[in-house]
Amino acid sequence: MTACLLCQQTIVSQYSLHELCFNRYFYQDLLCRTCRDEFQEIIRPACCQICGRHLNQTHLCRDCLRRQQSSTELLTNQALFRYNTAMHDYFQQYKGRGDYRLRLAFAGSLRRVVQQYQATTLFVPIPTSPNHFEERQFDPVLGLYSDILPLTCLLACHDHADHQAQLTRHQRLISPQYFYCETPATPKNGIKQILLLDDIYTTGTTLYHGLAALRQAGYRGKMTSLTLAR
Ligand SMILES: [Zn+2]
Ligand SMILES: [Zn+2]
Repeated sequence: MTACLLCQQTIVSQYSLHELCFNRYFYQDLLCRTCRDEFQEIIRPACCQICGRHLNQTHLCRDCLRRQQSSTELLTNQALFRYNTAMHDYFQQYKGRGDYRLRLAFAGSLRRVVQQYQATTLFVPIPTSPNHFEERQFDPVLGLYSDILPLTCLLACHDHADHQAQLTRHQRLISPQYFYCETPATPKNGIKQILLLDDIYTTGTTLYHGLAALRQAGYRGKMTSLTLAR
């Protein structure tokens, strides 16, 4: 018997016995139907084709149109859910109040997405800053992903990365690089694709800094990203 991580009600499994026995990737979201219905999935193609933000028609959002004109490399992001009130409250409880159990609330949804990637994909999490780690005693991005797939932690934070939460939107967009890559790419590693992992896509600045740090360290090939919310 599994309980919903948000309301503690028993979760009635939607899976058949066959799925439970034979699907070795089986893993469900630890939310009851009522709580799960509060979250809004972003369904393609009703989203920005670059950053994955929910849109009513298929197009690029304003931020991505602006980025497209600035000739920076564009990062295609897949976001699973809209950042609605339920998602805001979830992150408040998970990151704000530090309820580490909540890391598994969306494990099933995240696992279904990452399963589609090839064995030659490197899964690289965006790291939490040392100050935030100190406050929470855990890394919320590692929490979301480390139980469901093998991670390669290539990125580390510069000291000034800690202040990003206090920055205005404009300051964030022009702020210096948050990350550096500790392991330069080697030609023999055979990596064809990197999937950057984060919890929330807000302005995209964090993920774009991750992308730039990896490119600077010599990583080539396709780079995309995945976030729980946008
Ligand atoms: Zn519930
Ligand atoms: Zn966009």
